[in-house]
Amino acid sequence: MQQKKEILDQLIELSHWLGEERREIAILGEGNTSAKISPDTFFVKASGAQLGTISQAGIVEVSAPAVLKMLSGPALGDKEIKERLSAAAVNNPSNLMPSIETLFHAYLLSLPGVNFVGHTHPVSVNRIMCSKGWKECTQGRLFPDEIVCCGIAPVHIEYTDPGVTLGRKIKEEVVAYINKYGVRPKSILMQNHGLIAIGATVAEVKSTTAMWDKTAKVLAGTFQFGGPNYLSEEQVDRICSRPDEEARKKMIEGLK
Ligand SMILES: [Zn+2]
Repeated sequence: MQQKKEILDQLIELSHWLGEERREIAILGEGNTSAKISPDTFFVKASGAQLGTISQAGIVEVSAPAVLKMLSGPALGDKEIKERLSAAAVNNPSNLMPSIETLFHAYLLSLPGVNFVGHTHPVSVNRIMCSKGWKECTQGRLFPDEIVCCGIAPVHIEYTDPGVTLGRKIKEEVVAYINKYGVRPKSILMQNHGLIAIGATVAEVKSTTAMWDKTAKVLAGTFQFGGPNYLSEEQVDRICSRPDEEARKKMIEGLK
């Protein structure tokens, strides 16, 4: 296992990258990031911190089992959610409050091979997420690198109240996705909200986010020229199974 300090430094670097203003991926307090430390704990952005300028003082360590427990059982009220999130924090001398989105981070980090999660509100992606045709127009794949970096398909989440309700909805939809495709998703698209990139490494979260930004821009552009021309199911399957694409994927994920 990597040293805790090393994981923290990587998370800060990822947060700064995602929050860099010129990327138009997250501004002000938008978005949040997390990193697995062990099966027991993970780092997550504290409520109120900004990705672009975050330091160690804006990141809180939380107990994974304590947060995961909130994903099942009866519905929780706002006050109870705050109390339980605050109680889930460990090694927390400054009394930081974990982000309200800590629940979906906890769930996604519990998936095998997932070590980093980056959630953002890219202008390009939200142009589509905030449109009536958001789901329909993101059903098909447009080009090979989109499939390599963003996965065979994204998970689609209809607008859901942030926090516990969203965490539970994401868990439900990710389980359905894994049952359908036999692999974990690399990306989640949320109606009227934004993007979640799920990765084994910081590099994977960055490449998925950057490629969704590009895909969204390309997709928006296709409507000026007769609409998107999606790859066929056979073409998508072929890219997913090609050994050279597999090697490229591994390289991007920083596994080789
Ligand atoms: Zn958000």
